[in-house]
Formats: sequence, C-alpha cells, structure tokens
Amino acid sequence: MATAIIIGSGLGGIATALRLRHKGYQVTIFEQNDYAGGKLHSIEKDGYRFDLGPSLFTLPHLVDQLHDLFPDHCNSFSYIKKSVGCHYFWEDGTSFKAYSDQADFVSHASDTFAESKAVINNYLNNSKSRYNLTKSLFLEKSLHKWSTYFSINTIQAIINAPFLGLFNTLHKENEVFENPKLTQLFNRYATYNGSSPYQTPGIMSMIPHLEMGIGTYYPQNGMHRISQSLYELAVKVGIEFRFRESVTKINYKDNKATGIKTPINNYKADIIVSNMDIYPTYKKLLTDYPAPQKTLDQERSSSALIFYWGINHKFPNLDLHNILFSENYPEEFDHIFNKKSLFNDPTVYINITSKETKTDAPAGCENWFVMINAPGDYGQDWEAMIVEARKNIIAKINNCLHTDISNYISTEHVLDPRGIEKNTSSYRGALYGAASNDKFAAFLRHPNFNKGLKNLYHVGGSVHPGGGIPLCLLSAQITADLIPDVS
Ligand code: FAD
Repeated sequence: MATAIIIGSGLGGIATALRLRHKGYQVTIFEQNDYAGGKLHSIEKDGYRFDLGPSLFTLPHLVDQLHDLFPDHCNSFSYIKKSVGCHYFWEDGTSFKAYSDQADFVSHASDTFAESKAVINNYLNNSKSRYNLTKSLFLEKSLHKWSTYFSINTIQAIINAPFLGLFNTLHKENEVFENPKLTQLFNRYATYNGSSPYQTPGIMSMIPHLEMGIGTYYPQNGMHRISQSLYELAVKVGIEFRFRESVTKINYKDNKATGIKTPINNYKADIIVSNMDIYPTYKKLLTDYPAPQKTLDQERSSSALIFYWGINHKFPNLDLHNILFSENYPEEFDHIFNKKSLFNDPTVYINITSKETKTDAPAGCENWFVMINAPGDYGQDWEAMIVEARKNIIAKINNCLHTDISNYISTEHVLDPRGIEKNTSSYRGALYGAASNDKFAAFLRHPNFNKGLKNLYHVGGSVHPGGGIPLCLLSAQITADLIPDVS
C-alpha cells in the first residue's frame, strides 16, 4: 500500500491525513506533543475549560466536508450559527452589536454611528463581490501551478484587479465611513490574518463578508471539538498517530524525499507532508538543503498575549465575542509591527464560551479568554511586558464595562508568543505564519509542494493560502489535490 507520513497534527496535518486516507494511502502522523490539534487545543483549570487558541469559527462546511469523506462513520461534529458576530465597546460608552444578518447590521450600524445606510450596504456588497471574485484564485488553488491561471475565475479576477483594492491599504478603503469608529471596526479585520490595517491591502475588505455574509458559528461544546472530532474520525479510519515523537530530519536522496528521522527510528514513506511551520521545516529538518531565504524572511504575522481567567461573576451585557477598542489604533499597530512592543492602550478581545456551553465554567461564573494582539518573540523582556499589559488590560475592561474586574479573577493561566512557539514550533509565535502587510504576500507564501524535493509537500498556516482555520483546511485540500491518487 502507498504510504504517507505527516509531520504534525495541527488542523492542516489532520485534514491532509484524512484526505490522503480517503485516496487510499496508509497514513502515519508524527506529533511532538501528547495531543492532537496544535494551536487548536484546550485546557481545564479549577473547574473552568478554555479553548487555548482559535475562538472564531467561519466556513464550517470545510469541516463537514472532511467528515463527509467517510459517510460510514457517524459525524460527531455540530455547530450553531450566531446571530450576533461580535459585541464592540468604546471607552466613551458607545457599544455596538454586530448582527450577522446584513439588513440588521446595516440598520443598527446606521443608528449607532450616524452613518448612511447606503454607504454601509455598498461596503458590504463590495466585500461580497471581492470575496466571490478572488476566493477561487487565492484560496482554493495552488498559486504556483500554471493551470491555476487558465481558468475563467482567474481571468475574471485579473480583469477586475483595479476594483479589488490591491493598491490601497485597508484603512484607506475603510475611510469611506464618516465615523472613525466604523472605520476602526472594519480595520479590525486585518487582524484576522495577523496583519496591520495600515499596511495590508484593501482586498482584505473581503473578510467581513465571511462574518456578515456567510456567518460566524460556534461548535457545540467548544472550538476544540473541531480538532478533536477530526482526530477521532482519523483514528476510526485507521490513521496512526505517534505522539511524543518529534521529527528531527526529513531524509532525501537524489532530490526526492524518502522518509523522516525521529529520536526513535528512521521511517520511509512514498509521500511526506510537513505541517510544521515552514521556517523550522527548513531550518531544523532540512539543515543541509538550500532554504528559499526570501520566502522565509517574510515579515511574520502578529502573535498574541492571552490571559485565561476564571471569573466568579456574570456579565449579562457580554456575548461570546467581545471587543474593547483602543483609543489610538494606529499607535497600537505601530507598537506591534514596528516597535515590537505592547501599546499601553490595547484593544482587548474577550471570548466567553460559557455563554454557549454552560459547563465551561462553574455555576455563577464565566470563562474569559482575554487576548491582545502582540508582536512576535524577538527576545523582548516578556515577564515585564506581561505585568504591564495585565494592568493595561484591566484598566481597559474597567473603563469600558464600568466594573473592577480584578475583584472577580479567581484563576489565571497565561500564554505569550514564547509559549505559542514552544507548543507548536510556530516561528516567533506567529498566529498565522507570514503577515499580509505586503500586496504581494499571497504570492510570496511557500507553495504546498516543495520545488526541489519531489514527494515533499507543505500544509498549514505558514504556507499557501495562509493561516486561520478555514485557510488551513483549504491548504489541506490544495495539498491533497496535488498528491497523486494511489494507483
Ligand atoms: P498548527 O496548529 O501550527 O500545528 C502544528 C503541529 O505540528 C503542532 O501540533 C506541533 O506540535 C507539530 N509539530 C511541529 N513540529 C513538529 C515536529 N518536528 N515533529 C512533530 N510534530 C511537530 N484561527 C481562526 O480561524 N480563528 C481564530 O479565532 C484564531 N485565533 C487564534 C488565536 C490564537 C491564540 C492562536 C495561537 C491561533 C489562532 N488562530 C485562529 C489561528 C489558527 O489556530 C491556526 O491558523 C491553525 O490552527 C494552524 O493550524 P496548522 O495546520 O498550521 O498547525
């Protein structure tokens, strides 16, 4: 039987494993940790459960597609559509519920921000058109195969290039709104791929369509069910997981990958797929092979500093997703991407899954995932930065929610960029691989195949088409499509 080895059991790794198993390969996943899921993992502490990484779930059909590959196995994954995407707060007392339904969003936004309904509607319709025009080129196919460029969809995207906002920054595009708060709200979508709205191209204005057009979802029993349900399916269909077995080398001969090495053994396979971040894949597993330095030198996406707080109080005015905005957004991004430090007035994201899954917190309590965007790890004094950031986050929460949150924190766990890198090998702790602060970023990402080594493929957030759950799942689809069927 044809064999495949996958290095890493992140979402991209498990999804590729399932697709290759479906093609008839015998698949083994080597994972350095003792759990599957990579960044998509959860912890329990003092009666609270926390999703450690992703909290926002869009395009759920991409998970369904994987379960649907194996109809004989009962699909244990389910989710609900949220009617409110996010609840936004500013220090001057403004608050805004972003409804998923476009008409409701427009009407409420127009009232809250005294903005013309036509302008908001036009923006969202544009977001939809841009998404529909470009998804097939940028998200669903390899950008590194000539065949991609000879399709109707691609030709349409190229013809419409002048209207895609490629030559503006996202912030410039978002200045169509008179009210700077609405501009800030739409600027925030740059963070969905770890970029700055003041640098990322205007094409990123297609991201709101995912939320306001297609919708945000919540997996029953939490985000970790995405990776866990796929892991359970993988075990059922005969994919072997070798946990706590870190890959130390990719073996190759005559420009052809032949297998891998771990501290325990050398293993051969017909196909090798690395779900490890592309930077350490070259720097640690292919040390004697020339690395594509230009690709590896691309600016990394932002990282995050997260406080997981058990809160022994209920906040009925909060939703599943909540944002408490900085008063000076340009300064915040200047700190993250240029100064590589944390701004003293951060935008604070609070995710509370116990709003949906009551058992995630003890009765009368809530599980708060409190995150600020952060620079990657460049050897800063994180201990001092964390102490300072904790104070600033508490001040922001108190100012926006009129409370004294420090009275209610009953338990705490902290994750910073160093921890993200340690847990998942993500270079500098980047959440989404390379940043999209450059209009050519999409073309500069590493392809899903290796140009020099036959039979070696790459999947996950640090390669094409990029980071985030939906893109990692699409990455697995593109990678699997490049791998030949078992004859
Ligand atoms: P990863 O999750 O990076 O996993 C790689 C795996 O490979 C790990 O299990 C690692 O242990 C293993 N590995 C690495 N090297 C080796 C080796 N040598 N040998 C064996 N195993 C190895 N996305 C969203 O869509 N929505 C969100 O709200 C969101 N929020 C996020 C918040 C945080 C705090 C973080 C960290 C990420 C967030 N993301 C979000 C991004 C999303 O989590 C990632 O893009 C996605 O999960 C990455 O999947 P991946 O396939 O690249 O693999």
